[in-house]
Amino acid sequence: MSDGMVIAVDGPAGTGKSSVSRGLARALGARYLDTGAMYRIVTLAVLRSGIDPSDSEAVAAAVDDVDLAVGYDPDEDRSFLAGEDVSAEIRGDAVTQAVSAVSAVPAVRARLVDLQRRLSDGSGSVVVEGRDIGTVVLPEADVKIFLTASPEVRARRRNTQNVANGLADDYASVLADVRRRDHLDSTRAVSPLRAADDALVVDTSDMTETDVVAHLQDLVHQRAGVRG
Ligand code: C5P
Repeated sequence: MSDGMVIAVDGPAGTGKSSVSRGLARALGARYLDTGAMYRIVTLAVLRSGIDPSDSEAVAAAVDDVDLAVGYDPDEDRSFLAGEDVSAEIRGDAVTQAVSAVSAVPAVRARLVDLQRRLSDGSGSVVVEGRDIGTVVLPEADVKIFLTASPEVRARRRNTQNVANGLADDYASVLADVRRRDHLDSTRAVSPLRAADDALVVDTSDMTETDVVAHLQDLVHQRAGVRG
């Protein structure tokens, strides 16, 4: 375990999880680990190898050879595949469509969970963002936060983000994608998306990003006070 605070931030897409986790890491001077980026890098490797993402045996056979790396800096969320900076490509449509299938493969999860545990260890505090951090990856985390928001709010945020990134303005299909991914992520056999029993659930539907970061900072400080 780390000698600082280990903070798990879980929740579905569109809750502001990434921005909030980065903001929290920045405010605490902590490292930041984006576990979704790791699943996205493996997915990109699968697609580039011409493997069908729904062919779980072929995906499982390929995962050990994926040479992936991610940064720790909340101000620079960098992802690498075999040394190539793929930070932009892993956010594209092709990867986003395929990532749920790839991340449902047990061999993929086994390898990435092991890597995530090793990367979370070390000196100082760390904010680890994902779907199963508080439940599976780091059940001993000092603080577990589970962010939620209504599907409509999440789709609206994601669509606004897409438009800002030069992608199409298409709320209806973003909402459909949010619902589709929620369903896949919460019903899969391995590590379904759910809040840990001891997680602090924060509904961000009516909160600004700044409010959420401030609230989480308070929760972490309270916990640090209890821990001494
Ligand atoms: O957070 P992000 O949207 O980048 O995550 C992409 C996908 O990776 C999720 O939809 C989910 O299928 C998968 N994921 C996961 N477990 C994690 C993080 C992400 O299964 N800890």
